[in-house]
Amino acid sequence: MSFDVVVCGAGPAGSTAARELAQAGLKVLLCEKDKLPRYKPCGGGLTKKVWGELPPGWESLVEDAAHRVIFYHREKQPLEVTFEAPVVKLIMRDRLDLFLVEKACAAGAEVRDGFKIERVVEEGGKVKVYAGRESFVARVIIGADGARSLVARQLPFRPSRALGVALECELPVPHGVLDKYRQSLVLSYGNIRGGYAWIFPKASHLSVGIGSFDRKVQDLKSLFYRFCRNMDLPLTSGMRYRGAILPSVIPGEVSLNTSNGLLVGDAAGLVDPFSGEGLYYALRSGRLAAVTVLSFCEGKGGLKEYSEAIASQLLPHFYHAHRIAKVVYAFTPLVHRLVLANKELARRLVEVLCGERTYPELWEYLYARYQIFRRTLP
Ligand SMILES: Cc1cc2nc3c(=O)[nH]c(=O)nc-3n(C[C@H](O)[C@H](O)[C@H](O)COP(=O)(O)OP(=O)(O)OC[C@H]3O[C@@H](n4cnc5c(N)ncnc54)[C@H](O)[C@@H]3O)c2cc1C
Repeated sequence: MSFDVVVCGAGPAGSTAARELAQAGLKVLLCEKDKLPRYKPCGGGLTKKVWGELPPGWESLVEDAAHRVIFYHREKQPLEVTFEAPVVKLIMRDRLDLFLVEKACAAGAEVRDGFKIERVVEEGGKVKVYAGRESFVARVIIGADGARSLVARQLPFRPSRALGVALECELPVPHGVLDKYRQSLVLSYGNIRGGYAWIFPKASHLSVGIGSFDRKVQDLKSLFYRFCRNMDLPLTSGMRYRGAILPSVIPGEVSLNTSNGLLVGDAAGLVDPFSGEGLYYALRSGRLAAVTVLSFCEGKGGLKEYSEAIASQLLPHFYHAHRIAKVVYAFTPLVHRLVLANKELARRLVEVLCGERTYPELWEYLYARYQIFRRTLP
């Protein structure tokens, strides 16, 4: 059987690309190795800049909306910043991802779940895709298969990814505890090298996790338990947590296309190395991939245009985030003192995550505050 495009992986990146391409009239196959809906370890935080990237109807999936962000250093010295309107909306990934698959399906994409792609070969200007006993031919394959991407390993891309680690738990808690965290995000740094721990409220439980981009971090489970104990979260014996990888592109030359393949979302390493946010970049890269593949299939351009679009539109953001992460996570006691002395800094940080300010602006502000702070030291 042949398709214009085969998309490997039905996370937000893959479903978005499949939807846009099917809408434009291409013959698209969207493959997902798990049966849908599937669980995905994720805080499910949708920052303000994501909202406009989602198709209509997603608001019905929102479980809570945060107006308040509380920053801690090692679970102590909280600093609360409140906003008039929500800055982050919270969803469960199984529901969001199923919603996006249904949109792709409604747009005309053929969806196969419980269907794992096992091999991908480029030959003669086409791609051959093997799954179980079946094989397909396509003009393009989009690797949207997440942090451990098979497509990224089997075709000659030049991704450049640092792999972080995270652990996440959907924690059932009594109503009283849940109420305490309603409409709030808790972010606590200083408890893990190169990262932070979080508490995000959902409709009937808390999403609690810890993650880092530092390869030397070990025993994530103990750090996670310590964080929960410090925050007085009730740990139950049946509680389920899952480890996961956070792939983030590192500064350098990156090529996210081959002659007939593209990588999007986590498969391309598009996770912010400071915040760990990946949903926005999954959705954006899915759209950018669709634009390029469409003109490729119309004979108007090569897939290299996708790598160029990512390099000009998204990568500069990652490079600055990388620089901020290096400084902030290396000096968390100092950063927290700066934040406590100047609430505006914490506010600006949230505004960067929401897309209202940029990392370079934050960098300049941080540096200026540090200079003022230094002058006050004896
Ligand atoms: C613990 C944790 C918390 C996070 N919290 C947040 C958050 O709060 N906000 C945020 O913005 N980001 C968050 N992220 C990042 C975010 O989850 C990812 O960036 C996002 O899921 C990327 O989407 P994707 O579509 O690229 O990949 P994925 O969502 O990983 O989807 C890839 C899909 O491909 C499928 N697949 C893999 N191999 C194959 C194959 N061979 N054949 C067929 N299918 C295959 C997988 O089953 C999967 O469904 C978090 C990440 C982690 C690990």
